[in-house]
Amino acid sequence: MTRTRMSRPFSAAPQGAAPRVGVLSLQGDFEKHGVMLRALGCEPVRVSLPEHMAGLDALILPGGESSTMLRLLEHTGLRAPVEKWVRSKPVLGTCAGLILLARSADKLPLPSLGAIDIDASRNAWGRQVHSFTDSVEVATFADPFVGVFIRAPRIERVGRAVQVIATYHGEPVGVRAGSAVAITFHPELTDDTRLHAWFLTEVAGLAVHPPQPVAAR
Ligand code: GLN
Repeated sequence: MTRTRMSRPFSAAPQGAAPRVGVLSLQGDFEKHGVMLRALGCEPVRVSLPEHMAGLDALILPGGESSTMLRLLEHTGLRAPVEKWVRSKPVLGTCAGLILLARSADKLPLPSLGAIDIDASRNAWGRQVHSFTDSVEVATFADPFVGVFIRAPRIERVGRAVQVIATYHGEPVGVRAGSAVAITFHPELTDDTRLHAWFLTEVAGLAVHPPQPVAAR
């Protein structure tokens, strides 16, 4: 497992057209990602049909129920274009989104998309403790990040070419493989835009507003 520490500052406020960032909007908490994206000067695009994929600069796969999302990807015809996208273009998966991006996960009705060489174990924090909030370490940030874990998966195996970008008590909770990033927690449920800003600038190469707390919502 490799860890990265990057100190490049976030880029200045965007010039010209706002980056168009798709958010898979079949099910789950896609709205909250839209709030984050707008705070960073991006245009969120709801993706629920294949034609919505046109002209995107990056894609987010939100939290929700990965099994339901996999079925809906199939029903809407989105599976093929999304599967193609995640192989080579910037994608951020959060919680269920991480399960979709993983090479494998347990108890799925259909194969996951396999963009990142990790194995995930779903709902793996125990029956009683379905949700918790605690400080996580993100390699690229000087200060800790609040990790909101909701019936979160655990990353059971990390492939050799995969970078660990976030840890919780030493356990990987965020990974990156090229332009694909996946985390087991929910940054969109905090008011901290750093993770989205890092993904959009450092991974996707887009110009966004510097990170700042999202106003009351
Ligand atoms: N438990 C969900 C699943 O297995 C993920 C939960 C979430 O996205 N918050 O898909």
